[in-house]
Amino acid sequence: MTVSKVYYTDFRAHLGEGLPTKLKRLLYAAGIKQIDMDNKFAAIKMHFGEMGNLSFLRPNYAKAVADVVKELGGHPFLTDCNTLYPGSRKNALEHLYCAWENGFTPMTVGCPVLIGDGLKGTDDIEVPVAGGEYIKKAKIGHAIMDADVFISLTHFKGHEMTGFGGAIKNIGMGCGSRAGKKEQHSNGKPFISQGECRGCKQCMRECANNGLEFDEQTEKMSVNLNNCVGCGRCVGACNFDAIEFQNDAATKELNCRMAEYTKAVVDGRPNFHISLVVDVSPNCDCHPENDAPILPNIGMFASFDPLALDQACVDACLKAAPLPNSQLSDNYGHEHFCDHHDHFENTTPNSEYKTCLAHAEKIGLGSREYELIFMK
Ligand code: SF4
Ligand code: SF4
Repeated sequence: MTVSKVYYTDFRAHLGEGLPTKLKRLLYAAGIKQIDMDNKFAAIKMHFGEMGNLSFLRPNYAKAVADVVKELGGHPFLTDCNTLYPGSRKNALEHLYCAWENGFTPMTVGCPVLIGDGLKGTDDIEVPVAGGEYIKKAKIGHAIMDADVFISLTHFKGHEMTGFGGAIKNIGMGCGSRAGKKEQHSNGKPFISQGECRGCKQCMRECANNGLEFDEQTEKMSVNLNNCVGCGRCVGACNFDAIEFQNDAATKELNCRMAEYTKAVVDGRPNFHISLVVDVSPNCDCHPENDAPILPNIGMFASFDPLALDQACVDACLKAAPLPNSQLSDNYGHEHFCDHHDHFENTTPNSEYKTCLAHAEKIGLGSREYELIFMK
């Protein structure tokens, strides 16, 4: 079995060297220089944080990564794709305002911020998944697939559905267009809120399957369940958040689909991955709030292998002691608490998070075996 190298450093800072500089040192130690960046477009995939959330990565870390790309002759841009749910990042305009308000501007990070799947989250490209069992063609944001080099910069934390949110979550779910996210989350078909629908018919322009019917009397749209194939294209077309999907995919399927989407993003081009285990909130940065961290700040990790990176971050977290006055330590006090001897399962018992790691290894995304190399 292949053993991947994962480089790691802690959050101790020596006199005169700030953490962004230390992160740059880590990237060089981990071998990012091996990637030919000369005149290449490099997508740096991250999460800009939902409005109100404060645990997303600081822009200073993104700047450090963008600076390294520029030092190596590349053209970096920060990117993310729009959300399926109607929060503050469901179209490119709201998403950019959110990113700017959270501190990610060209002035602060030293490079442009592009929304990977375009204005309404419909600008995607179908990418074959080699060895995919659940997904044959992943729907990935076009700008992300156009990049010559792919870099993930991940805030490693807990996650209310997938147990932890690491590199695979950031890449697989995060690079999916709105239809791609739908494909990972849902097996079903959309429903249209008749109260929210304004009868504008924009959604009909997106549907290639005659899956929508317009009632001329009520001037409302509805779904023709016989024709609709559940592709999710229509959800981005509606400016009024009238079209919704249930997150009804079983957790195991969601985990496996995420791994397959990740493979679609990274296969066939230079890629490099960075995860910062800091402010380990119990839930995703998609929440408009962040509960207190469940674990201490552990360190910064970097690798060419996104699976080894996730496994190393998980293992480091499992060795750490839960923080008091957190969701995790609260759970220990619950009357029917069942101790799984695993921080992620104790925080989110139904996540089945190990299925993601196992499936990622099965389809050849990377290795769960790794050599951890500490950088002072
Ligand atoms: S999910 Fe796809 S097939 Fe169904 S109504 Fe929407 S666009 Fe049409
Ligand atoms: S785009 Fe939205 S508001 Fe317009 S007809 Fe379709 S569901 Fe109704």
